Amino acid sequence: MLSLADRITVVRERIAAAARRAGRDPGDVRLVGVTKTHPPDLVRAALNAGLTDFGENRVQEGEAKISALAAERGSMTWHLIGHLQTNKARRAAALFDVIHSVDDLRVAEALSRGRAGSNPGAVRTRIEGRGPDPQDSVAEPLPILLQVNVSGEMTKEGFDLAVWEAQPGRFDGFCSEVERILSLPHLRVCGLMTIAPWGDVPEGARPAFRSTRRLRDQLARRFPGASWHDLSMGMTDDFEVAIEEGATIVRVGRAIFGERH
Ligand SMILES: *Cc1c(COP(=O)(O)O)cnc(C)c1O
Repeated sequence: MLSLADRITVVRERIAAAARRAGRDPGDVRLVGVTKTHPPDLVRAALNAGLTDFGENRVQEGEAKISALAAERGSMTWHLIGHLQTNKARRAAALFDVIHSVDDLRVAEALSRGRAGSNPGAVRTRIEGRGPDPQDSVAEPLPILLQVNVSGEMTKEGFDLAVWEAQPGRFDGFCSEVERILSLPHLRVCGLMTIAPWGDVPEGARPAFRSTRRLRDQLARRFPGASWHDLSMGMTDDFEVAIEEGATIVRVGRAIFGERH
């Protein structure tokens, strides 16, 4: 049996090899360890083994682990990678460092309000009834990714961009939502996230990853003022293919922490 530290090393080596195959710098791929269903002690062990980025797919489960590891909070980056509902957005904005799963304008609006509300300066301004003071605008905008569904798989998650390359109307409709999200004051859009359709072989995920990268490139042309650097794509079964197609963030659970029960 490999130790946790060994499994992290093996995943890092596979990431580096995939990056080199694609002529990319391995340092440009960030590894997020997905800890859903696993206890805080295992998360701490991974932190001690050198992992710094952690992904949870539920706000409540994430909150429990983030509080259990409050003493280590400063050396961890917490990513919310699962579907987010509007009524949990405020909480999520206060807890997490990066939200990968924004797939709705209303959720984005709630996150922006939540980030503003978690800014002590903003709260003080409201209470004292003063106008906004530039000195109070200390909260960094919350980094987010827009989750897209390019495969047309039957799931409610992700902006529906199946067949976007064949139907320009689909892309234009998405762009008008993107424009409104980009205008939200307390968010910073960093790129796209996608989940490949379920399949038997890693190669099966390639078309979805490639389509997501092309979509990102189109958005960068349409909205050159925003950053579209990040592509969060690839999990245990397909992260190497995702890196070959340009992933800058991979979300890996089972290859590090073992099967979930
Ligand atoms: C669970 C999960 C992962 C990790 O999946 P593994 O197959 O265990 O690597 C990645 N992304 C999302 C959105 C998940 O829910």
